[in-house]
Amino acid sequence: MPVLRVALDLPLHRLFDYLSPAAGAADVGRRVKVPFGRGERIGVIVAVVDDSEWPVAQLKQAGEILAEPAPLPDDFFALCEFASNYYQAPFGEVVLQALPAGLKRLTPPERRAGRARKAPPALAQPALTAEQAAAIGKVTVDGGFSANLLFGVTGSGKTEVYLRLVEQVLALGRQVLLLVPEINLTPQLEERVRGRFPTREVVSLHSELAEAARERNWLAAFGGQAEIVLGTRLAVFTPMPRLGLIIVDEEHDPSFKQQDGMRYSARDVAVVRARQAAIPILLGSATPSLETWANAEGGRYGRLDLKARANPEARLPAVHVIDTRRLVLKEGVSAPLLAAIRERLARREQSLVFLNRRGYAPVLACPACGWVSRCQRCAANLVLHLADRRLRCHHCGFENGIPRACPTCGNQDIHPFGRGTQRVEEWLQGEFPEARILRVDRDAVKSRKQWEAVLERIHGGEADILVGTQMLAKGHDFPRLTLVGVLGADAALYAADWRAPERLFAQLMQVAGRAGRAELAGEVLIQTQYPDHPLFAALVAQDYPGFAAAQLKEREQAGFPPYAFQAVLRAEAPAMAEAIAFLEQAAALPVIGEHDQVMLYDPVPMKMARLANLERGQLLAESYSRPALQTFLPRWRAAIDGLKAGSKLRWHLEVDPLEL
Ligand code: ADP
Ligand code: ZN
Ligand code: ZN
Repeated sequence: MPVLRVALDLPLHRLFDYLSPAAGAADVGRRVKVPFGRGERIGVIVAVVDDSEWPVAQLKQAGEILAEPAPLPDDFFALCEFASNYYQAPFGEVVLQALPAGLKRLTPPERRAGRARKAPPALAQPALTAEQAAAIGKVTVDGGFSANLLFGVTGSGKTEVYLRLVEQVLALGRQVLLLVPEINLTPQLEERVRGRFPTREVVSLHSELAEAARERNWLAAFGGQAEIVLGTRLAVFTPMPRLGLIIVDEEHDPSFKQQDGMRYSARDVAVVRARQAAIPILLGSATPSLETWANAEGGRYGRLDLKARANPEARLPAVHVIDTRRLVLKEGVSAPLLAAIRERLARREQSLVFLNRRGYAPVLACPACGWVSRCQRCAANLVLHLADRRLRCHHCGFENGIPRACPTCGNQDIHPFGRGTQRVEEWLQGEFPEARILRVDRDAVKSRKQWEAVLERIHGGEADILVGTQMLAKGHDFPRLTLVGVLGADAALYAADWRAPERLFAQLMQVAGRAGRAELAGEVLIQTQYPDHPLFAALVAQDYPGFAAAQLKEREQAGFPPYAFQAVLRAEAPAMAEAIAFLEQAAALPVIGEHDQVMLYDPVPMKMARLANLERGQLLAESYSRPALQTFLPRWRAAIDGLKAGSKLRWHLEVDPLEL
């Protein structure tokens, strides 16, 4: 009797066999209802075979095989298999996480057809600059796999390069997958894509879509009706029958890395997908990740450069550092920056004060006894939010009211220490009572709707001063913005995290890119106590290649990625001793002795050692050979699976971690 091999969304590295008398090869890739435990689940049929490793008498009967939609194709399974092997994630989890929620329900909700969209305003196509034309000329859309880095400063017209290549691929009758790091970036890009291709079907796929819309869009991509799919990282697995090109915009962005569940890099999966599908992939950025830059330098990726802004009137902003060592700062703001803002106000231009810390102040403290507002559940401070009068943990979400007096000694004179966006906003309002100040951070902007409203206000000239976090740094055109002031950049310069400078450089280049996009020249003022730091010198010169070369040299000498390959085993438990003891067991497994190219470090508490009442430890595995690490990991994982652990202990492996 035919046996179905079924992938289920379970944390187990195996398939599940069921009997199904009428099943045949045509059912491979279809969804099936199967009994599991006391209930029923939706699984995906991976194979239909004649025999099972299990005694056939013990197998249960599968339920209904669902005829719709069409079976998932082989290339989808091949990609899932890669991700499962590479990231040590159970195959069933990988397969099922790629499906929209509606297709995972036993009783699918009623679906109505989507509303027809009103046609977007058609957008004209500008004549290409010489640099754009040269970049496009280097990509062959019908010549099999190729990976290219499109390295272009902000405003250099990368999007135009994307659109021309999209056009070529559509003309071949093929589909395009365009990945962006954040939902917030999709509306503008979506409008631009729709405007350029008004007769083509464009769908978006991201986590803020309602379930029904996401399912509809996914089905349109899978069915081949959608010609352009615009999505965030979760879209990378969407099966598309005629995929002809993948574009990853802002490829350096950490949002492409999934930090929970299956921990994967959508950018890296996209490159593998392009290779499997034998199609080109384009990775775009003004500040590429050092991994991608090293790939381009090493000749594994092609490189397309856009060095100038597309609009010849729009010059790159001038970047200056303000040496704050001998300046008196008021609420963290120096007199030169204040004067520069005042000038912009007088000229009716916009300023942006960038501070990557939301809330009013990072901590509330009692100077009498030393009490500080700590989260009860994490190794972190509670951040003071005056806007809604709360103390809030930015890690676990715990919150409290603001005490009137010190909970320890009763002192009524407790103070906020340090500053966040709310405090800077409040103070600037005092300095410039007539200015219209708009704060843009995750507290002020919680949904895509709010974000669109904020963008409208900025574009409509309804704000004179923007105070914002990195939310404002990415991919938006603010034509009247001519000044960017940067506060609090120094913290990242000497951080323990060796990726911090890379992130800081990217953020500051991005935020600098917001200024002077139209005909108004832009200026960027960075306050720092380390004006001679090479990172700032590279920023002032807007010399990403120089910065990257210096960073890569340091990493090569230190043996860090991309010159070494890493995986981290993390364990969390109610007590740190238990987590560390588990990691020590994992570090002593016999299998380790068989892999002499892999090195294990000592188990240590994580930087944020306590999160939501759990103590967390980690153990780093490293190798100079990716294949050596990849051979080791599945064997190590299987051995760890066999370790005894307390019922409250949880562990996971993360491959290519971004944060340690
Ligand atoms: P990037 O994505 O590199 O930051 P964009 O594609 O958003 O840059 O382009 C920046 C600005 O330049 C946009 O306003 C865009 O319309 C304009 N632009 C792009 N290419 C051209 C071109 N060839 N001629 C004139 N303007 C262009
Ligand atoms: Zn006190
Ligand atoms: Zn917390």
